Amino acid sequence: MERGIQKAAVLGSGVMGAAIAAHLANAGIQTYLLDIVPNKLTEQEEKKGMTLDHPTVRSRLATEAKVRLLKTKPAPLFSKKNADLIVPGNLEDDLKHLKEVDWIVEAIVENLEIKQHLWEKVEQNWTEGTIVSSNTSGVSINRMIEGRSDAFRRHFLGTHFFNPPRYMKLLEIIPSHDTDENVIAFMKRFGERTLGKGVVIAKDTPNFIANRIGTYGLLVTFEEMQKSGFGVEEVDMMTGTVIGRPKSATFRTLDMVGLDTFIHVAANVHKNVKDEKEKAAFSVPELLHKMVEKRWLGDKTDQGFYQKK
Ligand code: NAD
Repeated sequence: MERGIQKAAVLGSGVMGAAIAAHLANAGIQTYLLDIVPNKLTEQEEKKGMTLDHPTVRSRLATEAKVRLLKTKPAPLFSKKNADLIVPGNLEDDLKHLKEVDWIVEAIVENLEIKQHLWEKVEQNWTEGTIVSSNTSGVSINRMIEGRSDAFRRHFLGTHFFNPPRYMKLLEIIPSHDTDENVIAFMKRFGERTLGKGVVIAKDTPNFIANRIGTYGLLVTFEEMQKSGFGVEEVDMMTGTVIGRPKSATFRTLDMVGLDTFIHVAANVHKNVKDEKEKAAFSVPELLHKMVEKRWLGDKTDQGFYQKK
């Protein structure tokens, strides 16, 4: 039977997970959007007398992410109606739905151990044939699935979307040592024809292709800014509109990516390369750590290099 993707599940409803779900909905695919169960009630939930085991509370994160999609600019959805195809839920009660879907794509926090733990839980709810992928920016695809069955490994690969996924053309596909050739070929065709992407097949090296280069460029720009005394807006102008690139240049991009995510992504190369010079090039400046400690994470907390108006 010809393979196809009618239903999907996106695990993680943060910056990328929600936007990937929106892009799948744009392609007419019904998509479960699942996130962790909150461990604290909001003031409003408390006022309503809800408890932590209330279904609305348990699926709050993905539900809020779906609402946020309607307000985000540039719009992640082709039309507001497409949001109806996104079904919010959580990563405990709703894992059973993974048996219904044709593709599971993970976009949770950029951490190898957390991702490994999730794949273990996912495999218990996985049906052979379903494609499984990670949106990781650079964590090893092969390491992520250590301990998983051969069948699972044959269906697993990296599908790295860029932010924002509706607008950024590139999709990196990263096969594992065991990914079935038919799965790779199918995802390449699906990425190009259904999702409108330009697909590049990358090797499983730290941060793959685009983020190995992009992260390096960003760190050098940051260092040069500190040495030269230029300000954030000046650097954005010089690395953006002045040289014909879009307005969302260096630091606006960092705010959109999320400073916490960027630190994880840079640290991944730092940790996994042997060459001392390259290691040093990927060390994260102290100022970025301080901003993250203050929860200046960028657009997701309304304060990063820029304050969101
Ligand atoms: P994010 O911080 O916005 O969202 C992460 C989500 O993971 C949150 O919704 C959080 O609730 C969930 N989460 C946290 N701990 C968890 C756990 N223990 N188990 C399950 N879920 C958990 O991050 P993001 O920017 O959406 O990044 C997600 C993935 O996509 C990462 O692997 C990242 O490297 C990759 N990525 C990010 C960008 C970007 O521009 N932000 C671009 C491409 C790829």
